[in-house]
Amino acid sequence: MIRIAIQAKGRLSEESLDLLAESGLSIEVSKRKLLTKCGDFPMEVLYLRDDDIPEAVAMGVAHIGIVGHNVVVESEAKVEVLQKLGFSKCRLSLAIPKSQEYSGCSYFNGKRVATSYPNILETYFKENKIDASIQKIAGSVEVTPSVGMADAILDIVSSGGTLVVNGLKEVETLFQSQAVLIANPNLESTNREIVDQLISRFQAVQRSRGMKYLLINLPESKVDEASIIIPGMRSPTILPLAQEGWCSMHVVVEEKGLWPKLEKLKTMGAEGILVLSLDKVLP
Ligand code: ATP
Ligand code: MG
Repeated sequence: MIRIAIQAKGRLSEESLDLLAESGLSIEVSKRKLLTKCGDFPMEVLYLRDDDIPEAVAMGVAHIGIVGHNVVVESEAKVEVLQKLGFSKCRLSLAIPKSQEYSGCSYFNGKRVATSYPNILETYFKENKIDASIQKIAGSVEVTPSVGMADAILDIVSSGGTLVVNGLKEVETLFQSQAVLIANPNLESTNREIVDQLISRFQAVQRSRGMKYLLINLPESKVDEASIIIPGMRSPTILPLAQEGWCSMHVVVEEKGLWPKLEKLKTMGAEGILVLSLDKVLP
């Protein structure tokens, strides 16, 4: 039996639960319970504040956890990062009042910088030989320059809208983050096997995101040419149509860049094109 720690409430919790559900793990969701079992997998789920997840995994309170990479690095906890999970993408950036001129990171010499990520910021300042004062605060970092508490901030940015609203501009990106699966580095071999099985399921779900199932009708004479555009996983499936000289071609394709391929296939005589969603893709 393994235990996974996920965020109880916040930006990561819904997508963490969705990933578990799509991986075939049915979890009784009860708002009051802090620990729940999976119906059909040897795993229980522990709900925590995201800041507590790296340490809980390092201590072995949970074997694995889902948390933002930013929080893992800041915590300096002794955990292994097993896999990037592709959601909650954001960056940690330095921002300054938008009226200020910025000519490089020496700007920060002698400045007060507010952040909830003092360890990451300290490392960055050390590496860049900058002498600045770091003000650790737990939240509302982005308002500190306008109220005179700080000259600049290091904070999470995704669209940048919050910075603009607070009269700030992003000047340096220190770290690109996303949700990651972390593990205690000393898992027993039986638990390690369960974790590996879970990772395979996560990968199958992740692989299907951004992939489509494509069906087209095509003159048989065009199959070789079309196979170059849409080679599929191993090779396309070709099924004969009742009408002589025609076939149906089926492939799994990446959604990215699909439109130009569809347009090319159309000019080659493809018709009856269907693009379908996928749930899981196992290699
Ligand atoms: P908790 O109450 O569990 O301590 P929190 O308020 O510290 O939660 P959230 O705001 O829920 O944290 O964010 C959790 C994680 O989601 C962040 O550490 C980061 O990895 C990611 N994240 C934060 N903001 C964004 C955003 N705007 N877009 C995408 N991901 C984000
Ligand atoms: Mg938190």
